[in-house]
Amino acid sequence: MAKISDGIYFIQGQDEFIPDSHVYVIGEPSSDDLSIVDVGLTGKGNYKIQSILEMGIKLTSIKRIIMTHTHLDHIGCLSEVKKHIPQAELWVHTLEAAPLEQGDERAVYGMKEFQSMCQMQYGIKPGAFALKVEKKLEGGENLDIGGMVWEVIHIPGHSMGGIALYNRAGKILIPGDVIYADYAIGRFDLFGADANELKKSLMRLARLEVDILLPGHNQIVRELPSDYIKKTAEMWGPHLQ
Ligand SMILES: [Zn+2]
Ligand SMILES: [Zn+2]
Repeated sequence: MAKISDGIYFIQGQDEFIPDSHVYVIGEPSSDDLSIVDVGLTGKGNYKIQSILEMGIKLTSIKRIIMTHTHLDHIGCLSEVKKHIPQAELWVHTLEAAPLEQGDERAVYGMKEFQSMCQMQYGIKPGAFALKVEKKLEGGENLDIGGMVWEVIHIPGHSMGGIALYNRAGKILIPGDVIYADYAIGRFDLFGADANELKKSLMRLARLEVDILLPGHNQIVRELPSDYIKKTAEMWGPHLQ
């Protein structure tokens, strides 16, 4: 686990044949009010918890898990992580929280073939992602947590309830799987995806001032060029209708 800046820690995903999402721990450690953003793939819970402990962060100071979205590579190890931090609430955008609470796992797996493959590979039982969500996010919230303010921005397209977290003071953006380094964007062919919505979400993010981009996979980017998101949106625009 690496420190990105004050109050932001990064745990690199450990990809297998299925990717494992990065984890970000946000909040000033002295606040005793930390949040985890995404947890990662099934089987990666101990690795993530171990990485947090190695940074000297107390597990009792972690108060919530905020999901950028609920694909398996982001939420798969939730139950493993929750064993170590049972006090942590689960915060999810309402459009993906409702299916979780109803036991509808289509958004977790994204496609039927993938569901049966993963259930076999990892021994995941049907209904494993029927979860209680303590806080349903709408987008537009200013979360004052851990001594920092994070704006919640609803950015559907890769998934229906995808959110970005944006720290205006530090110009830091956590966009989940909507935009990555190297002008890459998230796929838009899974259940709940929508190319046109993704285009609008990218244009929305393009209006933000961002210095540090902390995506769900691949490299993180410091000193992001000011027109990076706009360029990415324009480059992909013709493919997103
Ligand atoms: Zn995803
Ligand atoms: Zn992902």
